[in-house]
This record gives sequence, C-alpha cells and structure tokens, in this order.
Amino acid sequence: MAKKAYNPAMNKHSSRCNVKNYFAGLALDRAAGVRRDPEWLQKRMQAPDSYFVPVWRERNLLRAEASAAALLSRAEVDPWLENADAVVFLGEDGESAYFALFLDGGDDAVPTQLVGFGEFHQLKGAAEGLGENDRGLLAYARAMAHWHGRQRFCSDCGAPTHSSSDGHVRICSSSECGREHFPRTDAAVIVVVEHGTSCLLVRQPRWREGLYSALAGFVEAGESVEDAVVREVYEEVGVRVIGQRYHSSQPWPFPSSLMLGFEAKAAAREFNPGDDELEDARWFTREEYAAALASGEVKMPSRPSIARRLISDWYGRDGAVLSDVD
Ligand SMILES: [Zn+2]
Repeated sequence: MAKKAYNPAMNKHSSRCNVKNYFAGLALDRAAGVRRDPEWLQKRMQAPDSYFVPVWRERNLLRAEASAAALLSRAEVDPWLENADAVVFLGEDGESAYFALFLDGGDDAVPTQLVGFGEFHQLKGAAEGLGENDRGLLAYARAMAHWHGRQRFCSDCGAPTHSSSDGHVRICSSSECGREHFPRTDAAVIVVVEHGTSCLLVRQPRWREGLYSALAGFVEAGESVEDAVVREVYEEVGVRVIGQRYHSSQPWPFPSSLMLGFEAKAAAREFNPGDDELEDARWFTREEYAAALASGEVKMPSRPSIARRLISDWYGRDGAVLSDVD
C-alpha cells in the first residue's frame, strides 16, 4: 500500500494560495475541464498508479498510526470497485489520479474488504497529525461523501438519483425530470472584532471549558458576505462594525461549510450579548489574552480551526509572539 508523494510543483494553482489554513491548499489539479469525458476518466481509473481514498460513514481511512491517509492502489480496490456506493474523481498530480471511494452501504460494521488497510477516523480529530496534502485530500473526499449521502433522491420530484461517472453530479433517474444536482457548500463568516488594540472573543455554553473564540455564523439567502459580517456581529453582541477586512478562507467539511475569515473594526467597546447562544463575551488586550492563556482560564480554539489562525494573527500583528498552547 504505497502512498505516492504529491508534487506541488505540478499544480498550477498552488502559488495562488499564500495562506494555508487546515484543509486548504491541496496540491491537486481537479481537471474540471476533462473529468466529464468518460474515455479519459476510464483511462485514469484503470491506470496502475491511480489511488483511491476510502470514506465510510463520513470517516476517512488512515494508516494504523493515524499519521497519514491510507491510499489504496488500483489493484487493491479492484475486487470490489464495482460495488462501491460512488466513486468520485478528485484530481491528478501529473502522474497519479486520485479517486474517493464511498462504502456507506448503511451497515455499522467496517467494510470487511478494508480491514487490514488502516482504521477509520473522524477527520476533525485526526487532522493535527496529518500533513497538509493529506488534510486537503481527505477533507475533499469527506465533503463529497456527505453530499452523495444527502442527495440520493431528487429534491424536485423525489425519484432516486445516480452519480455521474466523475462523481461531481447526481442525476435524477426520472425520465420526465432528469434534473442534475451539484455539490453544495454553505458559506459562513467568522470574525475577529477589534477596538483599538483589543479583540472581542465569545464563549458558547456547549464549548469545552475555557474556550473563547471568534464570532461566526452562516451567510443567509440574498445576503452578501460583507453584510453577513455586519449582521452577525450586531446580532450576537450588539456591536456596530465600521470597517472590515477579508483574511482568508477555509474549507470546513463538517459537513459542508466554507469559512470566510474577517477582521472587523468595532464602533465602540460597549456590547450586549443578547443572543441566547452566548454564555460570555470579553474584550482582551494582548497582555490580558496572554495572561488568561497562561493561567489556563482561557483556551484557544483547536489548531485545525481558522478561528485559531485569526486570533493568532490579531495577537501577532505588531510582532508579538504567542507561545504555543493547546
Ligand atoms: Zn427529479
């Protein structure tokens, strides 16, 4: 079960992405222009150096030590490829093509054909131990698995759908309908609110003890991302945003979000957490934040989250260095 090394130099998009949030920056050409060509796709799928990324019940297969994705070769999946729930072409790195392979089947038991290849893990918990490309690859596969699982029936007429050969469209089986369904991504904003040198962080009661994080919420229908930043901050803490700057984005396939990170400027320090979702909201100067972390009173968001990066970047903007904490 060899794992082929990715070659980022082969990827023409990789130079665009300067900020590497967890799950972002996958060095793979998605080949969207050719992946719907059945002949091309068959050739890629049959190639001995193609690799398959199994997903079962939205969990990813990792090697036993959970430090790398378990990628299966064409020969290894050959006996049961035909019976997979769906196969999705993910992309190629110049030499090898990568496919996600879904084995949900409604059964609670780990598919017997995969016993011995690794163990299935929830990606959110395992992400820290993985390399950048494995994170991106597994997130992509997980997001597609979730969508396939949720789009088994046509939302127009209720008839069953089937996957297109490349796995990026599900097609309604009714000859009268035939609608094509595409993967959906739900946009959410996540915002670090600042006033002077302070930053406003919030806490929800269901979060682990001590965790304070940035404000976040989904973009609503008919709303721009910028308007969502203003609305979310006002709804959650009653603070008027008078300026905002886009930071970076992050695919967050738990199950299907795209996190859009912003830094926002507050009109004033007064706030009113009227939303029942919040247990607390607090302004922190850098000194107060560092002291609260050091004492254990406050915890940072987990490393995979864009919230952690937003807060770290706020803290480090004037050259301050936050010592590594959990
Ligand atoms: Zn239909």
